[in-house]
Amino acid sequence: MVKITIDRPDCTSCASCWTVCPDVFEENPDDSFSQICEKLRIGGDIAQGEIPDEFTACSAEAADLCPVQIIHLE
Ligand code: SF4
Repeated sequence: MVKITIDRPDCTSCASCWTVCPDVFEENPDDSFSQICEKLRIGGDIAQGEIPDEFTACSAEAADLCPVQIIHLE
């Protein structure tokens, strides 16, 4: 398991993360910023998630591609 955090207020809604890793990231319908897909959220927090190993690679790719570097993996 890897923990992911998104610093949502700095998101530019570029769509890179949910394009490369749609099982983990999605667009929030209200503010258009990235959020963690519902089933992976920690305590219902849209900005934090626990990611199964099968999605670690695409999550890391999303973090690398993010133009403002606000996706953090632990
Ligand atoms: S890649 Fe970064 S800036 Fe782009 S939508 Fe995802 S979190 Fe936002």
